[in-house]
Amino acid sequence: MHTRSADQSFPLKTSVVVIGGGIVGVTAALFLAERGVPVVLCEKGQIAGEQSSRNWGWIRKASRDERELPLMIESARLWSRIVSELDSDIGYGVRGTTYLCETDADIARHQDWLDKTKHFQLDSTLLSPSETDALLGRTGKRFKGALHTPSDATAEPRLAVPAMARRAAELGATILDNCAVRLIEREAGNVRSVVTERGEIACESVILAGGVWSRTFLENLDLDLPQLAVKSSVMRTSVAPEFISGTVGSERASLRRRQDGGYTVARSGAAEFQLIPAAFHHFAAFLPIIRERWRIMKIRAGSEFFGPLGRARWKADETSPFERVRVMDPEPDKKLLARVLSDAKVLHPQLADVTVAETWGGLIDVMPDELPVIDSPPGWQGLVLATGLSGHGFGIGPGVGLMAAQRVLGENMLVDASNFALARFNRKAAA
Ligand SMILES: Cc1cc2nc3c(=O)[nH]c(=O)nc-3n(C[C@H](O)[C@H](O)[C@H](O)COP(=O)(O)OP(=O)(O)OC[C@H]3O[C@@H](n4cnc5c(N)ncnc54)[C@H](O)[C@@H]3O)c2cc1C
Repeated sequence: MHTRSADQSFPLKTSVVVIGGGIVGVTAALFLAERGVPVVLCEKGQIAGEQSSRNWGWIRKASRDERELPLMIESARLWSRIVSELDSDIGYGVRGTTYLCETDADIARHQDWLDKTKHFQLDSTLLSPSETDALLGRTGKRFKGALHTPSDATAEPRLAVPAMARRAAELGATILDNCAVRLIEREAGNVRSVVTERGEIACESVILAGGVWSRTFLENLDLDLPQLAVKSSVMRTSVAPEFISGTVGSERASLRRRQDGGYTVARSGAAEFQLIPAAFHHFAAFLPIIRERWRIMKIRAGSEFFGPLGRARWKADETSPFERVRVMDPEPDKKLLARVLSDAKVLHPQLADVTVAETWGGLIDVMPDELPVIDSPPGWQGLVLATGLSGHGFGIGPGVGLMAAQRVLGENMLVDASNFALARFNRKAAA
């Protein structure tokens, strides 16, 4: 069991410390607690304050990178098991995802994905124009077709991870919010403790699930992770007629039906790439993504360069960037969102009367190949990185959390982890 300090609220010793209370950290803590392993989760702000509550709420296999699909298929199973054990309704449901095709190129792209992923025997199909109309409850064959995956799911991001954290606590995990981890101490290459703003916690292993902060955290330990941040903007609408119960995506506007009767609306890929010192350091690795998304991506050179994700160094007794920014809450691009909503109304006449109820921004952590890292850096026995979910992590989060827990425990991994290894970046991971 944990050893606690005099006030009983702060543990001095445990087996595993998890850094970060997003979906990865919380599910890792949940799976460790299920196995009876003492675990303390430290979150610098509030549980799911960053990406894990700000996302669109799509839990999809459709259109996923083949290298990530086995992990998503297993994660879908984990989602339905976890949901059945929660104390509250998180709006989870298998409602299907649909990607609309407006051009022949859209059809060809989805057909190519179907061909490449045939061996997974998914239930994804390309619908004809009239089948698409039937699905959307309309006529006129405006769309050339759609990629439809009935077994995909959706959930309410603001409800999901806090409920999972309550479940982890019920199983014995200690969940500390407003508790930033400043750094990790090691001895002869083995993790010995973490130093938090509230004191030191002795431990044998650490899972770093710090989302967009992971690279900054590692830089201070002289570890190199090619991870950058892009800003994405999202809105929710006023209550509107239900013409789809799951999601409907297209190049100009993507929608998810919400539990509150509105829609979460945004534009896929319309992200703002933030120029920070690490962007120059990792420029070559990211060049392929920048080239591919050039048309829809904005590059922003602003105050972020000198902001908390920039290069910084601190010691155990100094305030870290994690205490300075409890919750990363970037300004949404309201002009972009206004255009997205008007496009959504053109695509879906059922939305003619909706208004904007709320807008928000979120920073997404991106790796050069848009796949997560689940691995230990050389020379750091007991440290597992579980980060870089590259905008797909609400779906695969539980699988990444489980694999991180398995790695700590030396168990067989849920799926082959070689696609998620640090060595793929062909860089020196430890200085
Ligand atoms: C706008 C948007 C839309 C998206 N849509 C989807 C979608 O529809 N489907 C999908 O699958 N994915 C989606 N994603 C991606 C998904 O939300 C993320 O991949 C996923 O939530 C990442 O989870 P995480 O636990 O790795 O990180 P996060 O949720 O960001 O959590 C990391 C946590 O670590 C904490 N932390 C960091 N450093 C420290 C420290 N030193 N000490 C203590 N705490 C620390 C942070 O405060 C944060 O709470 C979207 C993301 C965004 C932003």
